[in-house]
Amino acid sequence: MFAYPSGHAHVGHVRNYMIGDVLARMKRMRGYNVLQPFGWDAFGMPAENAAIKNKTHPEKWTRENIAHMKDQLKRLGISYAWEREFATCDREYYKWNQWLFLKMFERGLAYRKKSSVNWCPSCQTVLANEQVIDGACWRCVTEVNTRDLEQWFFRITEYADELLYGTEDLRQWPDKVLTMQRNWIGRSEGSLVKFKVSDSDDSIEVFTTRLDTIFGATFVLLAPEHPLVDSFAVESEDSVRFGERLEKFRALDRTARSTGQIDKEGFDTEKFAVNPFTGERIPIWVANFVLVDYGTGAIMAVPAHDQRDFEFARKYGLAIRVVIQPSGSSETSGESLESAVTEHGLVVNSGDFSGATSAEARRSMMDVAETQGSGKSHVQYRLRDWGISRQRYWGTPIPIVYCDVCGVQAVPLNDLPVELPPIDEFTGRGDSPLAQLSDFVQVSCPKCGKDARRETDTMDTFVDSSWYFYRYCDPHNEVSPFDVAKVKYWAPIDFYSGGVEHAILHLIYSRFFCKVLRDLGMVEHDEPFIRLLTQGMVLKDGAVMSKSKGNVVDPDEMTETFGADSLRLYEMFVAPPEKEIEWTDSGLEGSARFLGRVWRLVLPFAPVIAAGEIPSIDELRLNNDERSLRRKTHQTIRRVSEDIDPRVHLNTAVSGLMELVNALYAFCEKTRLGPYHVPSEEADATTRDRQHAVIKEGIESLVLMLSPFTPHLAEELWEEMGYVDALEYAEWPNCDPEVAQEDELMVPVQVNGKVRARVLVSLNISEDELKQTALTLPQIQTYTANKEVKRVVVVPRKMVSIVVK
Ligand SMILES: [Zn+2]
Ligand SMILES: [Zn+2]
Repeated sequence: MFAYPSGHAHVGHVRNYMIGDVLARMKRMRGYNVLQPFGWDAFGMPAENAAIKNKTHPEKWTRENIAHMKDQLKRLGISYAWEREFATCDREYYKWNQWLFLKMFERGLAYRKKSSVNWCPSCQTVLANEQVIDGACWRCVTEVNTRDLEQWFFRITEYADELLYGTEDLRQWPDKVLTMQRNWIGRSEGSLVKFKVSDSDDSIEVFTTRLDTIFGATFVLLAPEHPLVDSFAVESEDSVRFGERLEKFRALDRTARSTGQIDKEGFDTEKFAVNPFTGERIPIWVANFVLVDYGTGAIMAVPAHDQRDFEFARKYGLAIRVVIQPSGSSETSGESLESAVTEHGLVVNSGDFSGATSAEARRSMMDVAETQGSGKSHVQYRLRDWGISRQRYWGTPIPIVYCDVCGVQAVPLNDLPVELPPIDEFTGRGDSPLAQLSDFVQVSCPKCGKDARRETDTMDTFVDSSWYFYRYCDPHNEVSPFDVAKVKYWAPIDFYSGGVEHAILHLIYSRFFCKVLRDLGMVEHDEPFIRLLTQGMVLKDGAVMSKSKGNVVDPDEMTETFGADSLRLYEMFVAPPEKEIEWTDSGLEGSARFLGRVWRLVLPFAPVIAAGEIPSIDELRLNNDERSLRRKTHQTIRRVSEDIDPRVHLNTAVSGLMELVNALYAFCEKTRLGPYHVPSEEADATTRDRQHAVIKEGIESLVLMLSPFTPHLAEELWEEMGYVDALEYAEWPNCDPEVAQEDELMVPVQVNGKVRARVLVSLNISEDELKQTALTLPQIQTYTANKEVKRVVVVPRKMVSIVVK
């Protein structure tokens, strides 16, 4: 995932980039054509907020931050294809946001509707959700309320089913992310039912998954924004008080309302609805926790069988009627219930339907409702269309013109981009910044040429990040967002990593864009990312690093003291990539010490290797110690290769390399070589040849396998060893399975089903020898003494099982 240019990358951010770099470097050495690009998610609120605070321009702030962070990443040696770098605030990029918007507009996938926004009455301005802090404006601390504006939406719900069922094909995504996406889409099957408003032609439609409980619906709840509420207010006996209560509800924080983190309150509208099944008149109330943009904005309340309705009914003394009895329950009285009964069961108190099961009742009630015309079956989604309008400056201008004669007009494709106009001062007050620029707003209608006005909203920055990965395949294209053939060559993305905070929005929007682009004939795949890794955060003192907490570890400082490679190695070694890590300076020092150890091991042999006089290892007759070191080398190659790709267990890969270093040191100590060299103890020439040959193989493999983790040190050692071509053109070492094969193995020995001993035997031991060895083990003889051995089963290379009586 590309980066938001917040200013300074901390060690937590760069962990993600290092994971990708290890994979990219290794894949390159294995002969793959690797595209590892980088760019900047450069539009957004923080730049504009900084501009308001510091009287600077968002672009200046953004470009400076990009320059600084790029420098940081370069110093860490991350092998990005910098020639493909771009920032989403480049006009060459956001032009294509506009182009894609217009393609979606053409297809009815971009449309306008009224929707509410946060509003600061003092600044007279729209606030983004993140500018509302505890219900107050971030600038002036005035209490925030909401207001309705015409805004642009992307019809993501058109793809709801495909986005949902597509998750089944994402086999290399973490389960928790898939679950979050499924919940976000929130598909539920149920019924839409109409409750007529008493003495009126209006009716209220509700969605329910529990039609079987409708005889227990004793009141109806409306969202404060429900279209009928305003007329109820007018007809109310005390419309002023009604209006005040409504205002209070509507001003509540929308997020808190949607998550239910508010005191649940309501009031009587003095109106009644007719339950289509009982014919009963039931009261209509307004409740602050009912949302207009979820479902129909109205609820049939069944307090006996829904906990929230139950609490509401108890609080306001509304009727509670039991209509379901789960097995084992005989409760019939609403008054004595202590909480709602939400299980399915047998339907009671429900006229002709009494005695049916919940499922049966739902079917037959649906038939009745359909015949009556009071209901129909319906699939509802939690997923809403994606509101992309932002009343802000620092984003992609929406390429639309409003003409009094011709209506809503697309800016002609040839006139793109609609550029962000220069702006001198950011006040953070009043109309959205673009609306305050009359030169920008005034335009002639592309159709009739008369005076018209431009759309002044900019796009949600999630639009920018929903397709940027395709642009990397063809970043300088001036005639289209990207060349179809180039994207076909590279995409879909094989490996994508980033924070789990993007599990829902960014990833679902990108999946949506992929499907839209597919339907536009621009990509051929259904899903943009094959494998997803969500890396764990880096904590310091148990908390996420943040400027405000003052616990940020700056990679520059660490690089200054310990070197970039130590930092890279530490962050990969300390835990599996998906796990959180707790930053410790001592851990980083440990990595630095290890690299010192590698350096001191390799350097003495570098001239020997560079001289090119060591004979080929295959022509030599090795002794046991030499064979054993070779075996360790090849076992390490196998383990490290698999740990990096496909497993991405980078921490265990590093442990493997550390073990190999230990084995090489032990060999050197025994043979008086390298760091332990003693001139007076020279061995004969053929012995030295054999020793040098196995050490050369070990050291070269070590340096090659370390290189994705610590490219600087590895490259330096590689050169010292006499190689002219850069290490990144070298081939990844190969494991020879025969050399890696152990010649001894540990076999467990059971007596009457319990393991009583383990024995180390030669790989080529015969079944009979193995049986005899097992029976003569002293630990086994204590169990077999004075007993009759009934049976001995030998499973070659696996185990020996002895049955005694
Ligand atoms: Zn304000
Ligand atoms: Zn016109």
